[in-house]
Amino acid sequence: MKIIPISVPTPFYIGPVNVYLIADDPITIIDTGPKTKEAIEALRAGLRSAGFRVSDIRRIVLTHAHEDHCGLARSLRDEAKNADVLVHEWETGHRHSRLEYDEHRNLLVRAGVPDDEIARLRRMYEGVRKYADTFGDHEHSPLWDDTELEFESGSLRIVHTPGHTPGSCSFVREADRTVIAGDCVLKRITPNPVLSPDPIDPSKRFPSLAEYLVSLARLRTFAPTLVYGGHGEPVHDYDELFNRYIRAIQERQAKVIKLVSKNGTTAWDVSLEMFPGADDVHKFLAVSEAVAHLDLAHSEGKLAYELSGHQEVYKSL
Ligand SMILES: [Zn+2]
Ligand SMILES: [Zn+2]
Repeated sequence: MKIIPISVPTPFYIGPVNVYLIADDPITIIDTGPKTKEAIEALRAGLRSAGFRVSDIRRIVLTHAHEDHCGLARSLRDEAKNADVLVHEWETGHRHSRLEYDEHRNLLVRAGVPDDEIARLRRMYEGVRKYADTFGDHEHSPLWDDTELEFESGSLRIVHTPGHTPGSCSFVREADRTVIAGDCVLKRITPNPVLSPDPIDPSKRFPSLAEYLVSLARLRTFAPTLVYGGHGEPVHDYDELFNRYIRAIQERQAKVIKLVSKNGTTAWDVSLEMFPGADDVHKFLAVSEAVAHLDLAHSEGKLAYELSGHQEVYKSL
């Protein structure tokens, strides 16, 4: 069961995305790349040099539904005729509905983001969204945690690793402890816990950072020898990376707590202080990061919290 990485360009700041071809029956790809001409060409070339074509693909598995990972899923499925698309049920990025927009808006309002900024983020999101096709609920099958994706000569264990998004999944080949981790594990950057509605109760916010810490620890129990991330090179020393992430998260939490005043501070205030030059998508990621750290600090009893009108306000103790 050979795992072949294929680097696919994206129009995003993050740079190329890694698609993983599992060259075993049924022929499977994990993630797809965004919906651009450059991406599909790179993917075709990668498949070709491994001796395959798009029409050979039987299974399209998504680590999560961000545009750079899921964008081509529908076109590939159509071209491969009846290939199965699999994604965790808590993932919503590929659904794109009016309802989802309202849920996100609600989260941004609660984080203290001003109306004009919300409108700007909305326009930016519309621009990003064209890089992925929408899926209906009946058009994909669910990935179940702790089950196996079977292949002729082996299997991959599905491990639900929420945090970056609620439905993010990793895939573990236990025989040699190789992990395909999507954006849960990236070599050069600490992945962003993206602000998301809770999949069980969308009026609430998903506790992304707390969940992410659990996911990192859960992956550690597999004692990975090699981790293939969604971007950049593979990670050979997971323990070192794990410790580095934990330190980075603790340092950031300490910084965030210092930015909270006695009179009350919103996530928006914190994001402006922490990332003053942030623009476009980085503005959204900055708010996500601030919310995630405030949430965690509050759940650990390090900050007080109250709802003031529609806004959530944190206060130092
Ligand atoms: Zn992502
Ligand atoms: Zn990504």
